[in-house]
Amino acid sequence: MLHSTSTRSSRSTSKRQRDDFMASPNIRYGARIRKRQKAVKAEKVALYKCEECGHVAVKRISTSIWRCRHCGATYAGGAYTMTTAAGEVARRQVDSIGRNNKG
Ligand SMILES: [Zn+2]
Repeated sequence: MLHSTSTRSSRSTSKRQRDDFMASPNIRYGARIRKRQKAVKAEKVALYKCEECGHVAVKRISTSIWRCRHCGATYAGGAYTMTTAAGEVARRQVDSIGRNNKG
């Protein structure tokens, strides 16, 4: 059997691939997961609107913990996003319970 000695093995990495690799050492393989990581990172560093004072100053301080830099209000949200689908459902249920108790 012949071993083809192709020049394919030249290990040239493009600059873009290298940047992604350097940015996230724990996520290496799979285009989908790398794309997702990029989106999560953007949501993680983004500022969100505070429901207490209305300022767009809510920042992630730890996993699931978000605090308004303007008034200091603290929110329990998603690990990497301010609100999650499950969190919204829970919020609606709490609201409806509150309304039922009042009237
Ligand atoms: Zn606030």
